[in-house]
Amino acid sequence: YFAKGERNSYRFFDREMAEHAKQRHELKADLAHALDTGQLQLQYQPIFHVRSGRLVRFEALLRWHHPERGFVPPSEFIALAEETGQIAAIGDWVMKAACAEAATWPQEVGIAINLSPAQFRNSLPFKVADALSRSGLRPDQLYLEITETVLLQSTEENFRLLEQIHALGVKVALDDFGSGYASLGYLREFPFHEIKIDRTFVADDSLQAYAILDSVTQLGHALGARVTAEGVETRAQLERVRGIGCDKAQGFLLGRPVPATDVQKYMRLDGAPDVIAHRTGSRTG
Ligand code: C2E
Ligand code: MG
Ligand code: MG
Ligand code: MG
Repeated sequence: YFAKGERNSYRFFDREMAEHAKQRHELKADLAHALDTGQLQLQYQPIFHVRSGRLVRFEALLRWHHPERGFVPPSEFIALAEETGQIAAIGDWVMKAACAEAATWPQEVGIAINLSPAQFRNSLPFKVADALSRSGLRPDQLYLEITETVLLQSTEENFRLLEQIHALGVKVALDDFGSGYASLGYLREFPFHEIKIDRTFVADDSLQAYAILDSVTQLGHALGARVTAEGVETRAQLERVRGIGCDKAQGFLLGRPVPATDVQKYMRLDGAPDVIAHRTGSRTG
């Protein structure tokens, strides 16, 4: 009786696994046409200077509007695109499209773009330079966000590419810091302009998480980097990261990712969403 039940549950599990594999296979096939048919779009999430409330830049975030499945989140399709190699074409498009979009904005704010490990090829610095010259965006308006996974393989080579990008005047941010393979060695090897502390540390109100947020912020500052707190969802979290001295904040409390047509609503706030100005009592600086 027990054995039968067990066997059935295995069979159920197998069926689920097979279904999951089939879905992944179909999504991969659909992804091949997603870019050409305009199913991929960018949304832009604002990032604010914590003390002044000033809007400093937007992060470009990919969105896939699948004709049948509707919205497919990046957490599902970026990995697939990396497996099929399509991330190279998608990444090129993101770079061009985000720079071109940012160059049309009436206010000179920055634009941050996420890079995948697969984009780390010799051609990367040329592609960055090309996107800048085509769009007319100033190099110092562009931020490239990389996660530690970029540095896990071909570490030396990838640092060399980062140096070349840095030499163009483009800034490099270390994304999701602390979420994965955080190695302090990376911080020694490259002058990251910014460290983005993973939102899990912001969401967690334990003493341990506080200690980590506080220490990473001090560490970043000691290394000459700016520090951004990711995933700020509540006023209490904003207050905490402000007290700790994080330079910038990003999160649903301050603004969700929006389509290009809506970015100006964050600019019209004249640089200071009430929520920041109110809590810090400062609108300048
Ligand atoms: P990320 O680079 O760390 O981007 C921040 C993610 O956190 C975004 O998720 C954003 O919507 C989400 N987020 C922002 N504020 C909050 C908050 O207050 N609460 C919560 N729960 N989430 C918040 P999204 O857009 O789903 O993107 C997920 C990841 O997919 C990104 O993480 C990035 O690693 C990757 N990704 C997105 N666009 C691109 C792209 O163009 N290229 C590459 N290579 N990766 C991308
Ligand atoms: Mg990012
Ligand atoms: Mg992040
Ligand atoms: Mg992430």
